[in-house]
Amino acid sequence: MNFKLSDEQKRIVALVDELGKKEFAAKAAHWDQNQEYPWENVHKLRECDILGMTIPVEYGGQGRPLIDAILAIETAAKYCGVTARIIVETNMGALGCIMAYGTDVQRNRVTQRILKEGDKPAIAMTEPEAGTALTDLQTSAVKKGAKYIINGTKHWITGGGISVTNLVFARFFEDNRELGIGGILVDKGTPGFSFGRVEQAMGLRGIPETELIFKDCEVPQENVVVMGDGNEGFKKLMYGYNGQRVGASAVALGIAQGAHDLAIDYMKKRKAFGRAISEFQGLQWMMAESEIKLNAARLMIYRAACNARDLPNNVKLPYWDEASMAKAYTGHAALEVTSESLQMFGAYGYSQDLPLERMLRDVRMFQIGGGTTQAQLNMVARSIFKRTFDLRK
Ligand SMILES: Cc1cc2nc3c(=O)[nH]c(=O)nc-3n(C[C@H](O)[C@H](O)[C@H](O)COP(=O)(O)OP(=O)(O)OC[C@H]3O[C@@H](n4cnc5c(N)ncnc54)[C@H](O)[C@@H]3O)c2cc1C
Repeated sequence: MNFKLSDEQKRIVALVDELGKKEFAAKAAHWDQNQEYPWENVHKLRECDILGMTIPVEYGGQGRPLIDAILAIETAAKYCGVTARIIVETNMGALGCIMAYGTDVQRNRVTQRILKEGDKPAIAMTEPEAGTALTDLQTSAVKKGAKYIINGTKHWITGGGISVTNLVFARFFEDNRELGIGGILVDKGTPGFSFGRVEQAMGLRGIPETELIFKDCEVPQENVVVMGDGNEGFKKLMYGYNGQRVGASAVALGIAQGAHDLAIDYMKKRKAFGRAISEFQGLQWMMAESEIKLNAARLMIYRAACNARDLPNNVKLPYWDEASMAKAYTGHAALEVTSESLQMFGAYGYSQDLPLERMLRDVRMFQIGGGTTQAQLNMVARSIFKRTFDLRK
């Protein structure tokens, strides 16, 4: 077992760190306050081969392992959580499902859009009446000749309205018979596909969270990524999604690490009772606890990324129990660490003049999006008791 980064990994971290310091940090508040998508960061990441860095060489990418992308995500998140999320979604999320289960044509199309246009594929699962209980989803894909007709509404879809590629989870029907839940691609601009409400989110406001509306939206059958097939289609999609959980955890870790680093610097300078506040043992212990949490989270995330298992088409994605453990722990720990870091700044930390309050708003998301902490705990419990829980019984 080797916990050391290779020289190449150190280079990636140094590159993203420099971008973070020079470019991402300065405008992170701007994207948040103006709810603007950071296209200029997308282009920088693309020029530096960070966007879609795990895309295999045969699709024009660099074929880097998942752990390299995790390092880039964690580093970017120290400066701008929104930018880090874009790295996640150009390496994991919908891309994981498409690379593992899609056709060669689909894989080519989605990877070229990422590498050439900076597209961030969206994954559309959640509906107003189906969140954690995703198998309650009602969006339908009904076969009609060589096409599928899609009807339904998704909400809280990250990048909705920006993403050209949208992987939509739907209930498949053929000859009036339900086949199960599968996934189908719907490109932005397809007739019958429109965007509704944009959420006024608490944090991570530089990426829109949008309602996607499908009204008799026709897509060719070639767009099916995973066919509804009893429970099998849904299981495949969920395996394909495990990379996203680990990537999201790395964003939370990076935000918390960024806040922690700022607090350490500040504590050495800020004086109270005639000495630096870093000299108070009560505060040192708070920071020591934070340091331990950050390291524990990092180990879980790196393990999940490095243990990635083989899915079809040489795609390597984490095991679901390791991914869920990393996400459940990091979501909680990162929130605590960020909050303790803000505390070190006193009133200054509570002001919009400093990034701490934004980081705290941003990091809160990771106990909800990508599957709630409770949903992750259910997965961990499943692995302890070695059985599949049917939560409906
Ligand atoms: C910023 C953001 C971005 C998002 N991006 C996307 C996206 O890109 N694509 C997408 O499809 N979705 C996205 N989502 C939606 C997200 O995945 C859901 O919000 C999440 O899965 C929870 O669903 P829900 O909000 O309907 O909560 P509910 O499922 O209604 O849950 C409510 C509460 O009950 C708890 N709960 C539910 N069932 C159980 C159970 N069996 N045991 C214990 N507790 C339980 C939950 O943990 C939660 O605390 C995003 C959400 C946010 C906030």
